[in-house]
Amino acid sequence: MYGTMTAPDNPLLVVENVGKRFSASFAIEDVSFKLNRGETVAILGPSGSGKTTMLRCINFLTPYDSGTIRVGGRLVGYREEGGRCLREKEANIADIRKRIGFVFQRFNLFPHRTVIQNLTEGPVYVLGLSVDAAIERARRALDLVGLRYKENEWPDQLSGGQQQRVGIARALCMEPDMILFDEATSSLDPELVGEVLAVIRDLALSGMTMLLVTHEIAFAREVADRILFMENGRLLADQPAEVFFAAPPSARIAQFLARSM
Ligand code: ADP
Ligand code: MG
Repeated sequence: MYGTMTAPDNPLLVVENVGKRFSASFAIEDVSFKLNRGETVAILGPSGSGKTTMLRCINFLTPYDSGTIRVGGRLVGYREEGGRCLREKEANIADIRKRIGFVFQRFNLFPHRTVIQNLTEGPVYVLGLSVDAAIERARRALDLVGLRYKENEWPDQLSGGQQQRVGIARALCMEPDMILFDEATSSLDPELVGEVLAVIRDLALSGMTMLLVTHEIAFAREVADRILFMENGRLLADQPAEVFFAAPPSARIAQFLARSM
């Protein structure tokens, strides 16, 4: 809701009529929305509603099977050729993935690498930075998440909240165009949630473009410019956060919010 950097007609991500089917049933169906540069958008919805699948389709970890997803104008995962839609080459998919940070529920840092090594890996091996440049970038990112003093520790020496902050720093080191968060605080003990939310809040204020699947409804209300609500694979609401919370668009959604707050 900070929204200062939002440029309303400057979508970084455009999702149109996207569907994904697993065997017989739809995980997501006919989902369309846009994410503008500088915007923070929260995706809410019950378990199994397709939120994770939607995020995974955006960087083609899960190939979608209908509709289109464009990042910075580029079609994700497919290319159009002579009126047909063909699977994109892996190299081009990897190219789009470099620009999209992903922070998962579980921190999945490399356990046998120190904090700083976890952060320099991607910039050196994926982006081709020099080790010195990668270290400099990693230290800036660690400063942002308040963990510079932990740079030489091992992941298992950190609390879950600290590990998740390193996970966010690792995403930042790739200097992504946007970051996707999938329940970044769900596996944390309650007393560790706040420090991770504080980092995400700072990123929202700094104008990072973010799509945030979360069960932290109060947090979504505070930081999100817009709220998307999913259920049974469908996008049931896409509204400015203040509108969504002031007057939930359906009785069903009001009930979900009442139960989740
Ligand atoms: P959410 O993140 O909102 O909890 P998901 O996107 O994980 O929802 O799941 C949406 C639906 O798709 C669920 O019914 C789930 O069981 C199904 N699903 C997700 N991933 C797979 C998969 N790899 N194989 C089969 N079904 C899946
Ligand atoms: Mg999920």
